[in-house]
Amino acid sequence: MMAKNLLIALFCLFAAPFDSLAGMKNIKISQTKVYQGDVIKVSLAYKSTMPFRVDFLGREHKSFEMNGFQTVLIGIDYRLNPGTYAIKGVYPMMESPDPYFVAIAHKIRVKKKYPKLKWVPRERSEEEKKKIFKNSAEINNAARHSARKLKRLKKFAWPIKASNNKPPFVTSKFEDKRCRRDKVRGLLCHYHAGTDYRAAFDRKRSKPEPVRAINDGRVVLVADHLLNGKTIVLDHGNGISSGYLHLSKFLVKNGDLVKRGQKIGIAGKTGATNAIHLHLFIRMDHGKTVIDPHRFLRKFTK
Ligand SMILES: [Zn+2]
Repeated sequence: MMAKNLLIALFCLFAAPFDSLAGMKNIKISQTKVYQGDVIKVSLAYKSTMPFRVDFLGREHKSFEMNGFQTVLIGIDYRLNPGTYAIKGVYPMMESPDPYFVAIAHKIRVKKKYPKLKWVPRERSEEEKKKIFKNSAEINNAARHSARKLKRLKKFAWPIKASNNKPPFVTSKFEDKRCRRDKVRGLLCHYHAGTDYRAAFDRKRSKPEPVRAINDGRVVLVADHLLNGKTIVLDHGNGISSGYLHLSKFLVKNGDLVKRGQKIGIAGKTGATNAIHLHLFIRMDHGKTVIDPHRFLRKFTK
């Protein structure tokens, strides 16, 4: 036993810097070059019920089963500084009560997609400011306290069913800038930080579509916000959450368990908007990581 542990320790020690020697063919990584706002998928190449762990930016990620394989999804926040980062961890080598662990060590390169922008919120009344602050705290808290632990994650589904069963029509991308001109500071912009989907496909675009859960989860927020309008946040587990904004009607209540594809509300134009659409956000790491939802769904609805 001692000798085996020593061997493993030595193996991990020496294997870590050499990807090819560390049993790397047992670990699949979707990409080692990634843009800000994207997601990296790390999975075991063979079927196993035993989870593995990786660490990224000091956060531990425990794997779950996705498409039959133990998988970790690592979100790259759109504000993360471009540069080289390490993904480190261990995976179990045997299906037994006494498995031994092999090191995972990858370097990933985060490439720039969202240059920093100058932004200052618009002047508002004290009352409005208070409401907006409270609203965003509610969303942050809902995401932060997401507690579901995932054993298995289904593939994702689109939040709006387009008539031809293709992805719903995007009316505003994540990277679209929202700008205003300030007399003193000049042009101020921020990224949209979500995806807007057309949610009324009738001729006059006046009949709102149902909004569907992108995956199984628990409802962690049902609230009416000043700018976001009627808002639902779902906790999908392991720190992954999704938010649905500007709804006209809620079909679920706080605490409900929902299934992927389940109608959770009706789209609308509540809050700061004048056309029926769905603003979707997806966050990871309990709300800390904001990613491009459309890019995410294009990958993980397959
Ligand atoms: Zn939006």
